[in-house]
Amino acid sequence: MAYSHTNTLELLTLQNQLLLAVGGSQNTRECMHTFMQTTLKLLGLKSIHLYIFDHSLPDQESLVLYLSIPDNKLEREHKLTIYKMLLHFKNEEGGNHLTEKIDDNEVLAYDFNSIGGLILEKQRSKFQPAIKDTLVPVIQKLADHYRFCELQKRLNSEAKINKKAQRTYELQAKRDPLTNLPNRREFRYALSKEISNAQRYDHFGALMYIDLDNFKNVNDSLGHSIGDILLTQVAQRLMTQARIGDTVFRIGGDEFVYILSNIGDKETDAIKTAQTVATRVIDILAKPIEIGEFSLHITPSIGIAVFPDSFDDGNDSENILRHADTAMYRAKKNGRNCFEFFNPEMHIEANKRLIIEDHLRKAISNDELHLVYQPIVNANGEIIAAESLIRWDNKMLGHIVPDEFINIAEESNLILDLSHWITQHVCEYAGQLYQQLDKYSNFSYISINISPRQFIQIDFVESITKIINDCSAPNSFIKLEFTENVLLDNIDASIEKMEQLHVNNINFLLDDFGTGYSSLSYLHRLPIWLLKIDKSFITDFYSKHNNTQAIVNAILVMTEELGINCIVEGVELQEQANFFKQKGVHGMQGFFFYKPMPSHALTELVSKKVIAIEPA
Ligand code: C2E
Ligand code: MG
Ligand code: MG
Repeated sequence: MAYSHTNTLELLTLQNQLLLAVGGSQNTRECMHTFMQTTLKLLGLKSIHLYIFDHSLPDQESLVLYLSIPDNKLEREHKLTIYKMLLHFKNEEGGNHLTEKIDDNEVLAYDFNSIGGLILEKQRSKFQPAIKDTLVPVIQKLADHYRFCELQKRLNSEAKINKKAQRTYELQAKRDPLTNLPNRREFRYALSKEISNAQRYDHFGALMYIDLDNFKNVNDSLGHSIGDILLTQVAQRLMTQARIGDTVFRIGGDEFVYILSNIGDKETDAIKTAQTVATRVIDILAKPIEIGEFSLHITPSIGIAVFPDSFDDGNDSENILRHADTAMYRAKKNGRNCFEFFNPEMHIEANKRLIIEDHLRKAISNDELHLVYQPIVNANGEIIAAESLIRWDNKMLGHIVPDEFINIAEESNLILDLSHWITQHVCEYAGQLYQQLDKYSNFSYISINISPRQFIQIDFVESITKIINDCSAPNSFIKLEFTENVLLDNIDASIEKMEQLHVNNINFLLDDFGTGYSSLSYLHRLPIWLLKIDKSFITDFYSKHNNTQAIVNAILVMTEELGINCIVEGVELQEQANFFKQKGVHGMQGFFFYKPMPSHALTELVSKKVIAIEPA
């Protein structure tokens, strides 16, 4: 029935009916539709329309039809009039409804909470003022409801997006973004779980630590993007050969681990299975990896730790990982592209390393370090230089030789503090010694051994130059000893650093020549004018089984051609001294002349111009 009277009871009934039509549905469109249909019917309208402003659109187009019953006839024809009417409310020009005549029809526009308007169209008749007012609270309620529903909708969709983002985030936190393998964090968790399972159910598992050999060379020579592709392909190969239940993780740059789950009730069975898997890993990586025009050969070094183990350091994930890592280092030492199981002997070695590292950490502050200097003599036995060498005496461990702790310091980063201490102390002494030198002295420098990790620091040149600049001796009085492996890792960067040092008048020499790659192709590229032939050649000098003398001769000829001076280290015998004197080497260093000595002893020798036992 359409309302035509303005009797109060009728109006209240109309209001109630419409309010009921607003309903509680949270589906906005459904709710609006019910209301509008009821209004259309009860008021005998020609049409009814709901418009909403979309502020992302230009002004006149910003009025968007939300719902029309029937259809949207009015929209196309009279949009501008309606827009103007609704603008009236939007600009808060007063009132909450407006009437206009369009053609024969009366159009009644209600403010829809300033976000749009509700348009009621009556054909060839007018809206009664009482009915117009009766509708105001109903339409306000409808607008509130619309707002509420829209807000709810927005919140729901935001929550959905947040949930999705949360899920992506959670997934990313577990995965390595490059290879999509589970990452180090996941690995820790999984390994702990596997170890406790193995303990609880009395079976064995194994952790396999896979490190790619010389991966750094790929990155350095072909660039990181090729390196990344290579890692992805390696990850894929490793994944394809994993058994169900075994998991592959990427835990560092070129480091992958496998957890082999439940591989036997007896340790021997577990070892056998782990051996088979390790062999498979080596085989699967043996096929070259083709990336564009490159065919890359990559090999792994694998360390395996079976768990639970019977070593006394506890079966936690930290220890098992360290065991596998130690075994992997052994595999590297054994020539790479092979695997090694962690064993009791390595266990002792690993523990010893830990103890040394622990004490070394406090060595500087406990004042346990000192420096000694080993003279280098010329053919006449005159001291022309000295090499500084570190010494460490610890109350508990006694005297520890550099060969035992320099590597540990290197691997644990302690070398940086140590090197700083060494450089500072050598420079301090060099300053004192220089002041005491006779102006006719042949003594021309003190050398400092530079460790690889120290050299690769970005600020190496800057920090060492600063210490040497502060030294009261001229910069040329200090020489730095680099070994081949320091320089070859990234030859271009090394050359740049050496050139920068050179500009500051800081020179260097190549130490232990002959023990590394000793490749002639790099020797001529490096700005080197002085090298030390490694003592292993001199020790082996009279061995009948190899061609040491021939090799030493070759080195001497080659360096002469290149204009490089040679020092021989490890000269212990008169015959050796004689041989090198005849060869006209630049300098000789060894127990035959002098053992490393404290600074005051060197000062005394140099200032007294003592001449060593002169070679014949
Ligand atoms: P290196 O730089 O090649 O030093 C020469 C080593 O040969 C010294 O051992 C020296 O004592 C030893 N030596 C010299 N003449 C003879 C000889 O006639 N016979 C024998 N058997 N040995 C001789 P040291 O002092 O034990 O140092 C060993 C290595 O430890 C050094 O080799 C060097 O690589 C490293 N090192 C020593 N001091 C330092 C340091 O202050 N900083 C760094 N980074 N490394 C150091
Ligand atoms: Mg040296
Ligand atoms: Mg040396």
